[in-house]
Amino acid sequence: MKIFKIVAVLLVILFLFLELFIFNSSKLSEQNRPLVSVSTFALYDITKHIAEESVEVLNIIPFGTDPHSFELTPKIMVKIEKSSVTFYSGAGLEPWIDKIHSKAPRVDMSQYVNLHELDADAHSSHAHHHEANENAHESTLDPHYWLDFKNMAAVTKKTTSELEKLSPKNKELYRANRDKYIKMLIQLDAEYTKQLRSCEIRNVIINHNSLSYLANNYSFEAESLSGLSPEAQPSPSDIEHILKEIKKDKVETIFYENFINAKVMHSISKDSNVGAEVFSPLGNITADQADANATYESLMLENLEKLTKAMKCH
Ligand SMILES: [Zn+2]
Repeated sequence: MKIFKIVAVLLVILFLFLELFIFNSSKLSEQNRPLVSVSTFALYDITKHIAEESVEVLNIIPFGTDPHSFELTPKIMVKIEKSSVTFYSGAGLEPWIDKIHSKAPRVDMSQYVNLHELDADAHSSHAHHHEANENAHESTLDPHYWLDFKNMAAVTKKTTSELEKLSPKNKELYRANRDKYIKMLIQLDAEYTKQLRSCEIRNVIINHNSLSYLANNYSFEAESLSGLSPEAQPSPSDIEHILKEIKKDKVETIFYENFINAKVMHSISKDSNVGAEVFSPLGNITADQADANATYESLMLENLEKLTKAMKCH
């Protein structure tokens, strides 16, 4: 009997040791997860889907903040400098990136995609805005390339190969997740193609110039009130231009985006008796969308639903 008791006690001790060991090691690996910094919601969504919990993702621009007018704080700077790699969107979206001093690699994702020049029309009619208020955008490249699904697939591939360098042991997981994510993007493209094929209205009006990639890919026109900066103050002639566009193309719904003072768009919608809807340009998302675990996929499907209604597609 005595020997059984001893064995039982020893087993319990062994079990406790094992548990302690497993608990500690999982806690340790939690602490040792590499930190990956990202600058836009699109990059955040890709990195989360590819890496899952294998890395810690630092979202540089807090949810609910406009990526065009974001400025670095010393606190965020310190955090970014601790990360193993930083993924940023590029094409002029993050003029603050050069302020970061760290030996860790920074990946400019715009190097791996097809960039468009800004739409010539929108650019010339709103050029004064770019010069006056848009020192954030040095080039005439349109930075909203994440609204193009092929570009998103290219960024997904680059993200995957960078994560593999960071954590080779997770290679299989990353590649499987990459393939899933790219499949999702192909399905989104197919949905957009299908649903926007036959529409009565082919002019979409929005407060800031974020739609050129979608407009190009799905053959509609996009007119914007102000140029690239959602905060640019539109002039009376800008407003007049939009009012004319609404009339000319019998537009029934105009779009405004999060992070802006929607006042002007609302007064245009009232004056011309058309609806006003929110469009998510996905440079960033709102705090509410973050709380609701919104993803690139869910928000692009929401955007599509709103576009098909506004454009009267069937
Ligand atoms: Zn934008």
